[in-house]
Amino acid sequence: MALAAWIFAPQCAACGTPTDAPLCPTCAVSLAELGPACPRCAEPTGPRALVCARCIRAPLPLERIAAPWRFGGELASAIRRLKFTGASHVARAVAPLWAPVLAAALFEAGPGAIVVPVPLHWRRRFMRGYDHAWLLALHACAAAGIAPPVAALRRTRAAPPQSTLPAAERRANLRGAFALRRGLTLTAPVVLVDDVVTTGATLAAAARPLLAAGVPRVLGVALARSADG
Ligand SMILES: [Zn+2]
Ligand SMILES: [Zn+2]
Repeated sequence: MALAAWIFAPQCAACGTPTDAPLCPTCAVSLAELGPACPRCAEPTGPRALVCARCIRAPLPLERIAAPWRFGGELASAIRRLKFTGASHVARAVAPLWAPVLAAALFEAGPGAIVVPVPLHWRRRFMRGYDHAWLLALHACAAAGIAPPVAALRRTRAAPPQSTLPAAERRANLRGAFALRRGLTLTAPVVLVDDVVTTGATLAAAARPLLAAGVPRVLGVALARSADG
């Protein structure tokens, strides 16, 4: 096989086996749909999708968060390969798994809505060579046939990764962590994109400067929902 054909041959996002599907049949069996979840924050709720107690007590600034899959199994391997091993092609491989959810959220957000990925701090992006949420959004937009994402936000400081902190510290860790890019005016609804959502604290922190700048509504979409980071 020619080198280019080998490099660009479609492969399983989790294990690298050649396949035309996002995940090979062996890895695909570990995919778990999120199932009934809180329509505001995507927390699983049991047999019916009801607004959870936390969202009634202290609603997130986002109108809602959607995530099609549970973070686990080989999907978790695929996301870890993307984030920590330089496997940037994983973003393209998994795009078909969640592009329809992103397209639906964009439609729900309303006319003129744009997709805005949650950005890494520039230093972390420099170390990794790319921004994984940007790549995920870019390929999912392409797969769904919608306009490419907009780099509307910047991360103002390199906060420790949320996954390393207990829930109580996540909000404080993210206070003021995002800002609108200088010189940008936004008036359209926004669909924020991140790889994994846990408590929604990161998406909430990213939504606040958008809403403060006059964005009428913010929705969130993640590829997977994690129970504990
Ligand atoms: Zn596989
Ligand atoms: Zn909720």
